[in-house]
Amino acid sequence: MALSRRGLLRLGALAAGTSACARLRGQRKSPQGRVVVLGAGLSGLAAADALVRAGYEVVVLEAQAQAGGRVRTLRAPFYDGQYAELGATRIPDYHDLTLRFARELGLPLVELSVTGPRVLYHVRGHRFVHEEGQPFPLPLTGREAGADGSGLWKTYVEPTLADVGDPRAPGWPGPGARRHDGQTFAQLLRARGASEDAIAVFLAENGTEATAFGAAIWLGCERMDLAWKRTYAIAGGNDQLPRGLARRLGARVRYGHEIVRIEQHLGGVTVVARTGQGAVRVEADRAVCALPFSTLRRIDAAPMWSPDKARAIRELAYMPVCRTNFQTRTRFWKREGLGGLAMVRTDLPVERVWDLSCVQPGQRGMLVSYVHHDHARALCDVGSEATRATHSLEQMRALWPDVADHVEVATSHAWQEDRWAGGGWGYHQPGQTGWMFEAAMSADGLVHFAGEHTSAFPGWMQGALASGLRAAEEVARSLRAQAA
Ligand SMILES: Cc1cc2nc3c(=O)[nH]c(=O)nc-3n(C[C@H](O)[C@H](O)[C@H](O)COP(=O)(O)OP(=O)(O)OC[C@H]3O[C@@H](n4cnc5c(N)ncnc54)[C@H](O)[C@@H]3O)c2cc1C
Repeated sequence: MALSRRGLLRLGALAAGTSACARLRGQRKSPQGRVVVLGAGLSGLAAADALVRAGYEVVVLEAQAQAGGRVRTLRAPFYDGQYAELGATRIPDYHDLTLRFARELGLPLVELSVTGPRVLYHVRGHRFVHEEGQPFPLPLTGREAGADGSGLWKTYVEPTLADVGDPRAPGWPGPGARRHDGQTFAQLLRARGASEDAIAVFLAENGTEATAFGAAIWLGCERMDLAWKRTYAIAGGNDQLPRGLARRLGARVRYGHEIVRIEQHLGGVTVVARTGQGAVRVEADRAVCALPFSTLRRIDAAPMWSPDKARAIRELAYMPVCRTNFQTRTRFWKREGLGGLAMVRTDLPVERVWDLSCVQPGQRGMLVSYVHHDHARALCDVGSEATRATHSLEQMRALWPDVADHVEVATSHAWQEDRWAGGGWGYHQPGQTGWMFEAAMSADGLVHFAGEHTSAFPGWMQGALASGLRAAEEVARSLRAQAA
């Protein structure tokens, strides 16, 4: 029988109390307990891996036929062994966990030069190739006159970072971050005096998600990114990271299991999954829920989640994100001296155009139009994958009138239409960081939470991995306390 919410709270309090006593007495017992992990994305895999290493019995339930979730590398239908990353692409050098897991699994890293010496901009009707250190040929005046993107960032963003604090620190967000919580990042720029031209540059460089993302969490991420100097990727495709972890877990990962119900009761947790062979019930002492809230909303919970958790699950927004990939016969953009990953930045509906082939061998090229928010929604409205690719290609003619002559293969993926993701990443809307941060990550009875959306690094593999390790530690602490 499922437990009442009040009974669940008592159980949680008892576990927490025992935990403190056990720590004080310094008691240690050998680990005992069964844990069910929901979802085989990086967060679930990291949690499962840590729990297995600590000696617990672990089962991972995954709806899809493979692990990795939003770390997905597309190899077919491209020529010459080239590939496109549909999700995670860049590994900043300060993302220590992502790099550590890659090294541990023996995966070769390549350095990804994010910006080459020349970048193509198309902003406010102006198409121009920009060289580092040169002013933008935009009608910027006053304190913006003569600035380029980094000059604008230094004027409007850098001064706000001193008192925002580090989202990894306990107790974040503090008053400095909360002060910015009522507005989006784009609104913050406007409030700080940025002109519409300058805001268009910010959006061209960062994507239009900045018009929706709450400023507090955005600035927190900018603050952490101050440590970002170099960027890496896994040679041959980032999906090797989750695949390597899933291989290590072996048969503990059960694919084709769509979770439909989570029950908590005095004996533990029961998770009900739908499979090709009917419903399956998995019993465990604790659960790690590593599912995006966009999909958790469809799953029954008995008893219902606590009010804060239920609100977080209901209200966390997921960013519409489309990636439309074009394999080209040649890397024709080099004729303008363009290079590096983020070589095209625009306020056009195609937003940013990245060169994914900059770390891939061969003559052919791999362009991706990477669009967010309203542009991603509008692109989805156009129709099927093929129609969307044709539509994007047509829009890209504003950058290169002859682009269609170079394209051999096109594919498009809309994360908001992906049943198992519901969007690119969770993001806080204005006013949410003050409560969402804590509500998303805290345990609810015997269920602990992982996933990029429960971390200080929303939208990053680092966040997924860190949250998985945090949830594993919570589970181990709680089971040790129960056994003491
Ligand atoms: C377009 C895009 C670009 C990105 N770029 C970068 C980048 O450059 N660098 C970087 O580090 N990160 C990047 N990320 C973010 C990174 O991919 C994610 O943060 C990370 O992969 C999330 O892992 P997760 O475990 O939290 O969630 P997921 O990967 O979504 O895993 C959740 C798992 O749960 C499963 N699932 C869902 N519902 C159910 C259900 N009902 N039953 C059973 N299973 C279910 C899913 O199939 C999935 O496998 C990007 C993401 C996207 C979408």
